[in-house]
Amino acid sequence: MSAIIHQFTVGSDNLGVLLHDPETGSTATIDAGEEAPILAALGHKGWTLTDILVTHHHSDHIAALSALKARTGARVIAPQADRHRIPDIDVAVADGDVISIGTIEFITIETPGHTSGHVSYFSAQAKLLFAGDTLFSLGCGRLFEGTPEQMWISLSRLAALPDDTKLYCGHEYTLSNCKFALKYDADNQALRARAAEVEALRAKGAFTVPSTIGLEKATNPFLRAATPELAVSVGLSGHKAVEVFAALREAKNKA
Ligand code: ZN
Ligand code: FE
Repeated sequence: MSAIIHQFTVGSDNLGVLLHDPETGSTATIDAGEEAPILAALGHKGWTLTDILVTHHHSDHIAALSALKARTGARVIAPQADRHRIPDIDVAVADGDVISIGTIEFITIETPGHTSGHVSYFSAQAKLLFAGDTLFSLGCGRLFEGTPEQMWISLSRLAALPDDTKLYCGHEYTLSNCKFALKYDADNQALRARAAEVEALRAKGAFTVPSTIGLEKATNPFLRAATPELAVSVGLSGHKAVEVFAALREAKNKA
C-alpha cells in the first residue's frame, strides 16, 4: 500500500499536508502553522498524528508545533541547523539523513536560501517532495537568509529529482506566480498550458498543488534560469544561470 496525502488550507495561503501510511497508521503533518485546521483535517480523515516534519523556522510553519506535540505526543523532526530557533525537536536532521514515517522513507535535502536552515524531504519510494518555501509551483521562496548562489544550488538539487516526483510546497501562490512567469517567459507553450490549467483550478477553488518536478522544470522561470530564453528576457544573454536567477528573484521582489 502506498502513501496517502490529504491537503488543506492553513491560515490564508499556507498549504497543510497530512501524509498517512496505511500499513502502520503513522501520520505526519508537514509543518504546523496552526493547530485548528490540522486537528480538523486529522479528525476528518480519522487519522492519529504521529510525526511533525518541519521544513523551516518561520512562524507560519511552526507556530502550532509545541501545542500539537503536547496534545498528541507526536515526534518532531526538524533541521539540525535550526535547533536554536525551533522548539521541541526530537530528531534533528541534516543533509542526507533518512527518516521514516511508518514504512515510508524520506531523505533530507538541505535547501538553504529562503532561510539558512531550510530542509526539504524527498521520498524516492513514494515519489514525493515536501519543499516547504524553497520551491513553489511556478515560483520560489524569497531570499530572507541566503544568497542567490545558495538558492540556485538548492533549486538545482530539487530540479535533479525524478520528473515524476510530486511537489508539495508551503503555499498556494501559483496564480500570482503564473502572472510573473508569463511576463518573462511568454512564448513558453508548456507555461501557457499550465497557466490555463491554474486559472481553471483556482476558479473552482481547487489546489494547483501538487505539481511535479517535470512540470516545474518546463514551466517555472526560476528553474529555467539556465535557458537562453530566460537570460534574454532579463537582459543577461550569455551570463551565468545564477546571475539570471538573481535578476529574476530581484524582479519578483518588486512585482
Ligand atoms: Zn517561510
Ligand atoms: Fe511560509
